[in-house]
Amino acid sequence: MKLYRIKKSNIDKNGKGLHAKKNIKKGTKIIDYVGNIITRKQSDENPKFDNKKPIYLFNLNNRYDLDGDVSWNTARLINHSCSNNSDYVGKGLKVWVKAIKDIKKGEEITCDYGFSYDSDYKQFPCKCRSSNCAGYIVREGSRWRINKKFKKINRINK
Ligand SMILES: [Zn+2]
Repeated sequence: MKLYRIKKSNIDKNGKGLHAKKNIKKGTKIIDYVGNIITRKQSDENPKFDNKKPIYLFNLNNRYDLDGDVSWNTARLINHSCSNNSDYVGKGLKVWVKAIKDIKKGEEITCDYGFSYDSDYKQFPCKCRSSNCAGYIVREGSRWRINKKFKKINRINK
């Protein structure tokens, strides 16, 4: 049984999010983050991944990226929160979303997008309204989630 349902987001007022369909225990795998595996060379050369475009790109390793911008990747609907209850986990060429807290039925499932902290960070205001909201979607030193080219501004309310 699926642990989530797709509903209007509480964070992105114009978009959808994933909400817990039942109580989810910390550590539970919630959903796979799927997409097309492409080479870093392909993502470097494809204009689709230019700045300011809505992309869902993960660095998997030195050679490969995962392009999650595909209709069958339900996990792309997960919104960012500075008090995220879930996070992305990666191993090899696989990425999935795991609960990092106990999540109550009905709660929106949120992750830390972990945008790198660079001069572009002000493009990504955060509307999560959690008490520790940084105001912007950034995480310094994110281990492997995407890099300078990862942009998702269109999903965040302006
Ligand atoms: Zn926030």
